[in-house]
Amino acid sequence: MPADAARLTIDLDALAANYRLLRDTAAGAETAPVVKADGYGMGAAQAALRLWAEGARTFYVARLFEGEALRAALGDRPAAILVFDGCPGDAVGRLKAAALVPVLNSPEQIVAWTAAGETPLAIHIDTGMNRLGLTLAQAADLAAAGLNPGLILSHLACASQPGHSLNAVQLARFNEMRALFPAARASLSSSGGIFLGPDYHHDQVRPGLSLYGGGPHDRHDPRLATVARLEAPILQIRDLVPGDTVGYGADFVAEAPTRVGILGAGYADGVLRASSPRGGAWFAGHRRRLLGRISMDLIAIDLTGAPAAPGDMVELIGPNLTLDAAALAAGASPYELLVRIGHRSPRQWIGAQ
Ligand SMILES: *Cc1c(COP(=O)(O)O)cnc(C)c1O
Repeated sequence: MPADAARLTIDLDALAANYRLLRDTAAGAETAPVVKADGYGMGAAQAALRLWAEGARTFYVARLFEGEALRAALGDRPAAILVFDGCPGDAVGRLKAAALVPVLNSPEQIVAWTAAGETPLAIHIDTGMNRLGLTLAQAADLAAAGLNPGLILSHLACASQPGHSLNAVQLARFNEMRALFPAARASLSSSGGIFLGPDYHHDQVRPGLSLYGGGPHDRHDPRLATVARLEAPILQIRDLVPGDTVGYGADFVAEAPTRVGILGAGYADGVLRASSPRGGAWFAGHRRRLLGRISMDLIAIDLTGAPAAPGDMVELIGPNLTLDAAALAAGASPYELLVRIGHRSPRQWIGAQ
């Protein structure tokens, strides 16, 4: 690992621990990991292989090509891979070739898939998010026409806010839909919904974020293990006298003698520019403030009084600066933060594969 590079360490044992926590919380339902967007930036192949070893047998992705890549990564393991985008246009051939199951979102997609004689049949019914899925009326019509899906799925809009009234509304609508398709397995909840209680578990749950360490309810949850750790090396240390400024726009002005550490990471590594000034870095047992603007490759932090030397590694996201706290400080979501790290910084996976 070059000493000048930020690095993202992905702990597969932590991922597995989070999977077990979610599975136990939703005991009785199948836990089907969501590994879209390259496993939320954590490596879809690495994540899925470890989760397979933990007993996961059904995986979700968003895009057809993500499903194709995951199928290749899983080799001859007989995993079910479902694709949220469903079966747009002429995707039937490619879905079939990779043994992918589309989550069908419209009557047209259902026609395309069933006309090709394909099974199983998984349908997405919109219960209030108004994103993808059949309307309640379309679903009722299809039930009346004798459609017999193997899986019905819906998605909660406000699962991360347990007190939101839309949760109960969507649950009631979903249960009405289950009555229309009594033979189908049912799946409503992602990470947030799993923690809304057993009424929300049905036959299958679909966690993404909390597998990767993000709290289900918009804040850090200490029951979840830290999966992603982003660290950057100190490249240079410099001492400022009062009046000196740091970085683009001279945004930081030293009011006292200040020791500055320049880190080899920046927004090209997924550290959101909006992290400064409210975000922080962790070094030698203390939270350090960020100084001035984050640039593409470099970040300045306050190391006054710290026993630091060039080459030392500084934590930007990890056990001491949680994903949720880092996202909050940047005014971003933990989802956004996760998928942005790890494009340039080398990723390394630790823990059993
Ligand atoms: C992304 C997604 C999930 C996973 O959601 P998390 O909040 O990451 O747990 C589940 N279901 C659908 C339909 C999704 O789009």
